[in-house]
Amino acid sequence: MKAVMCPHCRTSMAASNGRETCLTCPRYALPGDTADDVERHETERIQALALLDVALADHDATRTRDRKITDEMEARMGQTIQTRGCSKCGGTMYRTVDTDENGNPTNMSQFICNGCGNME
Ligand SMILES: [Zn+2]
Ligand SMILES: [Zn+2]
Repeated sequence: MKAVMCPHCRTSMAASNGRETCLTCPRYALPGDTADDVERHETERIQALALLDVALADHDATRTRDRKITDEMEARMGQTIQTRGCSKCGGTMYRTVDTDENGNPTNMSQFICNGCGNME
């Protein structure tokens, strides 16, 4: 079998794992490949890498978003929201309760009605 030349570098390729691999660039040739085939492999390789880059960028964006949500949850930790019925309008009243690391209330606001603004 005659040595395959890299169409890009004009150097002999070395056989490895059933293919001929260029020693100075990422191009490779499968048995029987023409120079055009070698260039096609290289184009496909670059396209695959570009797709991988996009996939990785998406992955990073997702991770950043997840991290932001977690950070917000951590920032809110130590505070819970309690609800009860409003005695005036029957709507829902809310208040925030600060808790210590054991979940015991340390400070709480008045209930404020979502419906009529009543405070108790
Ligand atoms: Zn080469
Ligand atoms: Zn109310």
